[in-house]
Amino acid sequence: MHTQHAILSGVKSKQISATAHPHLWKKFQACWPALKGSLARVRKPCIRANCPACACGKKHPNYLLAFTQKGQRRCLYVPLRMVPLLKRALANGRRLEQLLYAMGPALLKEYRARNPAQTGPAVALKRASVKKHSAKSE
Ligand SMILES: [Zn+2]
Repeated sequence: MHTQHAILSGVKSKQISATAHPHLWKKFQACWPALKGSLARVRKPCIRANCPACACGKKHPNYLLAFTQKGQRRCLYVPLRMVPLLKRALANGRRLEQLLYAMGPALLKEYRARNPAQTGPAVALKRASVKKHSAKSE
């Protein structure tokens, strides 16, 4: 809520409340934890001597998380037990990105609903439709 308030502090609180779009805010909160990056399954040799899996070329499954940090591509090994959590976080990251794209139009729609345009193409269209209606009823 604090962040949302900070984002909206440049706009008069009368025009857009800090609790704008509680349904979207709930969806944002449901997307935690979230991350951006990609998870790759790789096969790596181990350090054990005479390991049958390595000897036959099967090696050992491992996961790598690739991500960008300060413009640099980075990779980290992921413990197998963390794979389900990271997969969920990646899905949440994609969902969060969609919500961010939806936020701009939602804020503008609310602003316009509270502050109807006095001039511009929307007003011209409204006037034209009012004229049509009144012409039909006459
Ligand atoms: Zn091995």
